Amino acid sequence: MSDKHQHWIDLRSDTVTQPSEAMRAAMAAADVGDDVYGDDPSVNRLQDFAADLFGFEAGMFAPSGTQTNLIALMTHCGRGDEYLVGQEAHTYKYEGGGAAVLGSIQPQPIANQADGSIALADIEAYIKPDDMHFARTRLLALENTIGGRVLGQDYVAAATALAHGKGMATHLDGARICNAAVQQGLGLRAAVAGFDTVSVCLSKGMGAPVGSVLLGPKAFIEQGKRWRKMLGGGMRQAGVIAAAAQYALEHNVQRLAEDHDNAAELARGLAQIAALKVGTPQTNIFWMDVPAAACEPLRQALARERIRASVGPRTRLVTHLDVSRADVARTVEVFKAFFSTWSGA
Ligand SMILES: *Cc1c(COP(=O)(O)O)cnc(C)c1O
Repeated sequence: MSDKHQHWIDLRSDTVTQPSEAMRAAMAAADVGDDVYGDDPSVNRLQDFAADLFGFEAGMFAPSGTQTNLIALMTHCGRGDEYLVGQEAHTYKYEGGGAAVLGSIQPQPIANQADGSIALADIEAYIKPDDMHFARTRLLALENTIGGRVLGQDYVAAATALAHGKGMATHLDGARICNAAVQQGLGLRAAVAGFDTVSVCLSKGMGAPVGSVLLGPKAFIEQGKRWRKMLGGGMRQAGVIAAAAQYALEHNVQRLAEDHDNAAELARGLAQIAALKVGTPQTNIFWMDVPAAACEPLRQALARERIRASVGPRTRLVTHLDVSRADVARTVEVFKAFFSTWSGA
């Protein structure tokens, strides 16, 4: 099966996608200007297009989802404010503590339930009274999908209504909100209902090389642009990458269903291997338990067959637009071949 011309199958993340020929053509053809002056027509078009698509007044294009989340947190919250966030959430766990370090914002992490939600009773319990001893609880931040799990509409409606009822704002880290929408058969506007602001990544399963958009009320986005500049996110002829992001939103949303189907197929195939304990994917991301002693030899066996995966005792596998159904079949074959000879030592 080893064929040195065979392409690599990369299951580490959906961030590894390559821009397609058609996307590169859109990038090459993009009209550009200096976006710090607001002069880039392709950036302006993307921001307006994304805002309309998700049902917001305005949008801001930025280099990364880490930055759009941080800009949102810093615009919602000031020094000495806090935001309620899941213990497993990206903004809390995987963004270098930016809200605290750069925003002087205290995170109040709350345990995530098995389905990825934060229990409504916990949200309520962690909202602090107006008392000089406490940080001011200003914001609820949710993430959808979270670790590949979809937060359902009823939960999102209840959680955002609870926060608003307590005078708080709501932010969605919607890095993969398009996956959540497609999985539920929901429109994008319906999928973000209840949130004052949303961050959407275009560089994951959407297939663009770079960039995220932050969406919200016009005044909020204008204020946020000051933080974006301060954080080094003011870009000049960014239309070249905005055109790729625009292409992604126009062409790559509904096809996410293929990634979800491929993840389900991959999980079904791997579940036939007795040594593995494989989770059931809801979208394009799932986890499986791999015996610790198998991890290093498995990693090597996969690399020999040109498959990249973040193999560990708790292995995360991710499908995306550069993983085909044939790639799924090849991956399952390689895993089966490895475990057919693995002694279990
Ligand atoms: C990837 C990701 C982000 C932002 O990541 P960047 O690499 O900075 O674009 C934010 N939230 C979630 C849930 C993510 O998966």
